[in-house]
Amino acid sequence: MKALPQADRFGELREALRAACGAFDAAYWQGVDEQRGYPEAFVAMLTQGGWLAAMIPQEFGGSGLGLAEASVIMEEINRSGGNAGSCHGQMYNMGTLLRHGSEAQKRQWLPRIAAGEVRLQSMGVTEPAAGTDTSKIRTTAVRRSGPGGDRWVISGQKVWISRVQHSDLMILLARTTPLSQAARKTEGMSLFLVEVQAALAHGMSVRPIRNMVNHETNELFFDGLEVAHEQMIGQEGQGFRYILDGLNAERTLIAAECIGDAYWFIEKARRYASERVVFDRPIGQNQGVQFPIAQAYIETEAANLMRFAACELFDAHKPCGAEANMAKYLAAKASWEAAEACLQTHGGYGFAAEYDVERKFRETRLYQVAPISTNLIYSYIAEHVLGLPRSF
Ligand SMILES: Cc1cc2nc3c(=O)[nH]c(=O)nc-3n(C[C@H](O)[C@H](O)[C@H](O)COP(=O)(O)OP(=O)(O)OC[C@H]3O[C@@H](n4cnc5c(N)ncnc54)[C@H](O)[C@@H]3O)c2cc1C
Repeated sequence: MKALPQADRFGELREALRAACGAFDAAYWQGVDEQRGYPEAFVAMLTQGGWLAAMIPQEFGGSGLGLAEASVIMEEINRSGGNAGSCHGQMYNMGTLLRHGSEAQKRQWLPRIAAGEVRLQSMGVTEPAAGTDTSKIRTTAVRRSGPGGDRWVISGQKVWISRVQHSDLMILLARTTPLSQAARKTEGMSLFLVEVQAALAHGMSVRPIRNMVNHETNELFFDGLEVAHEQMIGQEGQGFRYILDGLNAERTLIAAECIGDAYWFIEKARRYASERVVFDRPIGQNQGVQFPIAQAYIETEAANLMRFAACELFDAHKPCGAEANMAKYLAAKASWEAAEACLQTHGGYGFAAEYDVERKFRETRLYQVAPISTNLIYSYIAEHVLGLPRSF
């Protein structure tokens, strides 16, 4: 497939990623999926190669690359047939620590994350009763001082918290001022850096959620978990704002993963349609088979332009909320349409695990729901770009 001009800029990076991901073939991903396992060897390879430290500044031992390069890394993982969902948290979670953490926190953790000694793969925000309305979270952190030092005691519950079992650190959002006493509903929430192993022994428990994708995600229960005050990130009460700050990077990286998926589906469909002969001709000779694949390609190229527009603004430290949201929307839609075209092109074989189509089909569907659902993107554009009245 011909590459867009923006994509061409990253030729060397793409080649390096393709070589690295090439060692993990379809059989590897099928095995991980069948066992509902974690792609440990794959994540170890990415970590040792420094790929997941791409956005950590050089002074902390990372590569100091921009969002554009980071997005190409995520895209290439999914384009190779893999699933970056097993490790993408590391790429954007550390941004919260970098932008809002204290100097001591950054010096303590970022070099170790960059060196691959420590994983920061998890972010705990979503709760069962609050859903998308984060201001309604019920997990609380109450400050206590005494012989044990200045600390916060955390109680409550989270849901859908990914990669906790494969992470050393988790960024956790909790209410530190009751909603009724907060100046604004988005204030009074704070962020904490939780050390997972220590927390498991002292008040946090994990219950895995079996789900449609082979994606490690969990319910978390907090019963008096104590966290030292030094582990609070930034100022008390400003946690929600810090999380919002990181969303543009997260959405753009997920858009890139969807684009990687879409190209994978299009190439898979193109090849199968050229080779599969029915009624004495390749099925791809029929326009009824060609057109959905061509349509998916057009949608993917358009999404790709928006993804690079978002990256360019982000890397130039300019506002990119609209572009990041639109990139995520367009890319998730394009990858889903490409998935549908690919499955349909494969006929019955699309359902056979050995063709990988059904696995990637399940994986890419997630991105219309998480990390933000399509309706909430419409809502963002309606209010923040078009100036329509707030609906909530
Ligand atoms: C596999 C997986 C992994 C996840 N990983 C994480 C993680 O690591 N950390 C984390 O914190 N969260 C995680 N999530 C949670 C994810 O971010 C939420 O599921 C998502 O934000 C939607 O929230 P909800 O499921 O509570 O849906 P709800 O808020 O209950 O919404 C349900 C539906 O109603 C729609 N809706 C709600 N309100 C409105 C409205 N006002 N107008 C129009 N439509 C509306 C939504 O768009 C959605 O389609 C994960 C989820 C999944 C499925």
